[in-house]
Amino acid sequence: MRLLIMGPPGAGKGTQAAFIARSLGIPHISTGDIFRANVTQGTQLGIEASRYMDAGEYVPDSVTNAMVRDRLSQDDCNPGFLLDGYPRTPEQVGELDAILHSDGHNLDTVIELTVEIDAVVARLVKRAQEQGRADDTEDVIRRRLELYADQTAPLLAIYRSRGILVQIDGLGDINDVTGRIFAVLGVEL
Ligand code: ADP
Repeated sequence: MRLLIMGPPGAGKGTQAAFIARSLGIPHISTGDIFRANVTQGTQLGIEASRYMDAGEYVPDSVTNAMVRDRLSQDDCNPGFLLDGYPRTPEQVGELDAILHSDGHNLDTVIELTVEIDAVVARLVKRAQEQGRADDTEDVIRRRLELYADQTAPLLAIYRSRGILVQIDGLGDINDVTGRIFAVLGVEL
């Protein structure tokens, strides 16, 4: 299974992605998590990425694409993967297609978690208080939501036209949302 999960910042992608990936026995590949791990470890990639992340901007495609290409080439991705936070730009869609096509593969399903923006802002403000993420301040949250609407939401139309997009209501109890996703993926609990 080669899956993507999409949705605005705060939609709950990371939480749901972890459950889905564990149940399916495939790696959960979150570009945000990989960037944050590099920031914590003080790697060159982390130093470069944090300049953008802390402002809520996207890390340049050249940096992100190379990182994802490398990650997807690892053996644990052979049975499939769940990508979270990538692609975020039209160029990244093209890059992901190229990576997959070079091995004769395609994406199976793109899961869009839909949420109302007011609910999302409330969640992100709460997460800021709990986890202290550098990009969870109000101004930066607003910028991340704006970039999502401008740059990333249009990608959904591409996947819809390919007939692989499924929309899942992301509001409500975490377990209920997981249940909705498993139902459309045909996963037995
Ligand atoms: P969010 O909660 O905003 O969805 P993520 O944890 O997915 O956050 O990503 C955090 C930050 O990491 C983004 O705001 C961006 O700076 C950077 N980032 C993550 N994925 C990508 C990507 N595919 N392209 C460019 N930048 C990315």
